[in-house]
Amino acid sequence: MRKTALVTGINGQDGAYLAKLLLEKDYRVFGLVRRSTRPSFHNLEYLGVASAVDYIEGDLTDEVSIFQAIRLARPDEIYNLAAQSFVGSSWDQPILTAEINAMGVVKLLNAIKELTPHARFYQASTSEMFGNSNRAGLQTENTPFHPRSPYAIAKLFAYWIVNNYKESYGMFCANGILFNHESPIRGKEFVTRKITDGVARIKLGLQDTIRLGNLESKRDWGFAGDYVEAMWMMMQHATPDNYIVSTGETHTIRDFLDLAFRRAEIKNWKDHVAIDPRFKRPAELFTLQGSCSKAARKLKWKPRVKFEELVEMMVDADIERVTQEIKNTANKR
Ligand code: NDP
Ligand code: GDP
Repeated sequence: MRKTALVTGINGQDGAYLAKLLLEKDYRVFGLVRRSTRPSFHNLEYLGVASAVDYIEGDLTDEVSIFQAIRLARPDEIYNLAAQSFVGSSWDQPILTAEINAMGVVKLLNAIKELTPHARFYQASTSEMFGNSNRAGLQTENTPFHPRSPYAIAKLFAYWIVNNYKESYGMFCANGILFNHESPIRGKEFVTRKITDGVARIKLGLQDTIRLGNLESKRDWGFAGDYVEAMWMMMQHATPDNYIVSTGETHTIRDFLDLAFRRAEIKNWKDHVAIDPRFKRPAELFTLQGSCSKAARKLKWKPRVKFEELVEMMVDADIERVTQEIKNTANKR
């Protein structure tokens, strides 16, 4: 029989890639979307799946709407991808971040327990929960957590409440501890997309400088399209569990800049990058590098897109998009 999934955060980067994957697998896909004066379905449109999703209006801070969404969708699987997802903003909006990323998850779990207790639940957990634990080696599922931002602290609460509902009520609850993952539809506030968008605009003469914060941070960057497959695989396993999803490689922001400017054939990126203290964080995470050996062993998952390919994919897509925007503006004149 055809399966039904409810995806929160469907308009985001991962929501769009996951919706595409689930539709390819013949799921009926419901997506929870927040009311907005200007709703944006760009990511789903970019992947060509916007019209194939059934949308339900709702907000993770509003329990009534969550109950309604679950009652309407009667899902077999629920993927909770909705979040205030930007670490940087979490210092400015710590309460909202906790309301969505922590309390929102309790509301969701509680509604599932009441209405569809046999539904399977996926929680978008994050490598940010590790903080600077184990800086010298690979982080694993057993590395101690030491969250360093209001974002990570709220996500850690969610991680534990998900485990607790599994242990207390026997619900199928899985945490995917995902390391940074990017794509051409990554939000432009994140460093990778900020760089590739900036590189495209510099290449096409619209901008001269990209203003950045700490260039020494190291991240384990993978491709969002690969990572949503791991989410789905966790939900098909016989037993619920928590898994790291990562590439096992780590690179600095400088490495990313090197590759991105090289791809656009712009020499000397240092001439186009300015350090701006506004983009430095009150508490930094220096190195993230995860071992996905458990996911490889138990789920047979592995990342396909390599770091260099990812950077090139994002630069090429942004150059194409900015070129199109310039043409569209010229045609309007
Ligand atoms: P995005 O920022 O692209 O998407 C977040 C989505 O959440 C958006 O659709 C947003 O809706 C929605 N949302 C925000 N607040 C609410 C709310 N109160 N009620 C309902 N929906 C809401 O994030 P990603 O796709 O990159 O990430 C998906 C999830 O994975 C997030 O939970 C993130 O924290 C987590 N994660 C991401 C990683 C990454 O590297 N991408 C790494 C590890 C974890 P709207 O469009 O209305 O703003
Ligand atoms: P995060 O790992 O979820 O916080 O993802 P980001 O892409 O937001 O940040 C990754 C790293 O890039 C962090 O260590 C940031 O401090 C660093 N960074 C340096 N300059 C910038 C910038 O201008 N914007 C962002 N978002 N991050 C920056």
